[in-house]
Amino acid sequence: MPMLNLVLFGPPGAGKGTQSQNLIDNYQLIHLSTGDLLRSEITQGTALGMEAKKLMDQGILVPDEVVIGMISNKLDSNKDAKGFIFDGFPRTVAQADALDALLASKQSAITGMIALEVSDDELERRLLLRGKESGRPDDANPEVIRKRIVEYNTKTAPVANFYKAQNKFYSIPGVGQIDEIFVSLRQVINTL
Ligand code: AMP
Repeated sequence: MPMLNLVLFGPPGAGKGTQSQNLIDNYQLIHLSTGDLLRSEITQGTALGMEAKKLMDQGILVPDEVVIGMISNKLDSNKDAKGFIFDGFPRTVAQADALDALLASKQSAITGMIALEVSDDELERRLLLRGKESGRPDDANPEVIRKRIVEYNTKTAPVANFYKAQNKFYSIPGVGQIDEIFVSLRQVINTL
């Protein structure tokens, strides 16, 4: 069986984390969220975490080498995995290139990227709502939310073209009931 390696794609607030949870529950995949890994470094008070926090609190992406290094470690420590869900990574074309190289060195590859499509207005509404509950400082401040959306549009959106060029890009509507969105996600996965 080849590995099932999925990239969940979409702007902040698109529902990547929520749908990742559905995927974890239904497929035996390892969930790799660079945002979660960075927040865990912050909680542990590591030097990496402290440096990353300065950028994350402003809604700016952390350097490519930092997240690529974290993903590389996680791939090495999960050698027997059936596959991975990449959530919030790759966020730049350089990260996508590095991920292809890391997987190729393990005789593996990305199976597909699935994008969750949500309008900008809906995103801002969801993020402000989440900010009241998640306790994430970067969700609480409208200015930081807008910066994250700008970072997404300038640096991350081009990553879709990277996978389109490899015929690995799929997209589904990210609005509606969580379960309905998951049905669409499964339908795409079944075609991979
Ligand atoms: P997230 O939890 O995916 O919304 O990420 C929260 C913040 O962590 C982002 O705004 C970035 O500052 C940082 N971050 C997470 N993943 C990446 C990544 N792949 N590349 C660069 N920065 C990231």
